[in-house]
Amino acid sequence: MRSRVTLRQAQGPPGMTVNMTIIDGKAISAALKAEVKAKVEEIAASGSRVPHLVVVRVGEDPASVVYVRNKAKACDVCGIKNTTIILPEETPEEELLAKVRQLNADDSVDGILVQLPLPRHISEAKVIENIAREKDVDGFHPLNVAGLWQKTPHMSPCTPKGIMKLLEAIGVNPKGKRAVVIGRSNIVGLPVAKMLLDANATVTMCHTRTVNLPEVTRQAEILVVAAGHPHTVTADMVSPGVVVIDVGMDRDPETGALCGDVDFGPVAEKASAITPVPGGVGPMTIACLMENTVECFLNRHNN
Ligand code: NAD
Repeated sequence: MRSRVTLRQAQGPPGMTVNMTIIDGKAISAALKAEVKAKVEEIAASGSRVPHLVVVRVGEDPASVVYVRNKAKACDVCGIKNTTIILPEETPEEELLAKVRQLNADDSVDGILVQLPLPRHISEAKVIENIAREKDVDGFHPLNVAGLWQKTPHMSPCTPKGIMKLLEAIGVNPKGKRAVVIGRSNIVGLPVAKMLLDANATVTMCHTRTVNLPEVTRQAEILVVAAGHPHTVTADMVSPGVVVIDVGMDRDPETGALCGDVDFGPVAEKASAITPVPGGVGPMTIACLMENTVECFLNRHNN
């Protein structure tokens, strides 16, 4: 699962080398999906129907089209039944809420995901709070968020959960480490900071008002970057040996190619481990969605 690459240590004595790991999110997510598939096969072998995920897409946002397609593909890999509902861009908010309520009441549905972002005339908060908590595979429902912060049973949000699994897969235990998180969104920054805190890291959160960001990031032993801008982290902002998790999914302003928030090449020369974009956090998000779908199924059927 780990690609071991030997690079010249940029700041070390000439000729000295460090082992650097490019964290292979594709391989780690494939292993997780294989585990999910085995669980689904066990469920089917017991004579039960298999878990069922419904994904709702409103409109034709190009990124959402790709994400929703990838989620359906992952369901197929894991043996999870999946249904994609596509609604037109101009769907009224009330109509979407009625669809969500219908899915909540449908006993054959275990997980509901409404792909974000939604068109501007629809309140994302209203949609999220209308998804039944026990079918909230994204972990965005206010009661699931509260569960994360209060350490009570909850569905974990997929991207932060995937980040913690990546760290575990490469043998990095956050306990006692200095972790720095750039970004404080509800979807990534805030929950991943809480999960790192619960794993006993000492966590610093940074945002657009942070004064002297490089001074803070140079303290990091684990650096999670979820800012949504290319070149947010440059090589001068990290210390040798740091583990870098790049959550960003951006477009390079010059080439238009998919890239992360971190200057991969120069930062990799100083890091002990780093996620590539693509192929790092992204595949883990989808694998965790598969795991959450099975968890929703089991919670509903065992309670
Ligand atoms: P967001 O826009 O909601 O939040 C960005 C956060 O970063 C904000 O809190 C902001 O204060 C902070 N920030 C922005 N620029 C900064 C800077 N220069 N210095 C310090 N802080 C700064 O974004 P989000 O939803 O959290 O997503 C962040 C990135 O992660 C995006 O590129 C998004 O596409 C990506 N993402 C990837 C996945 C995945 O599965 N790989 C999932 C979700 C989000």
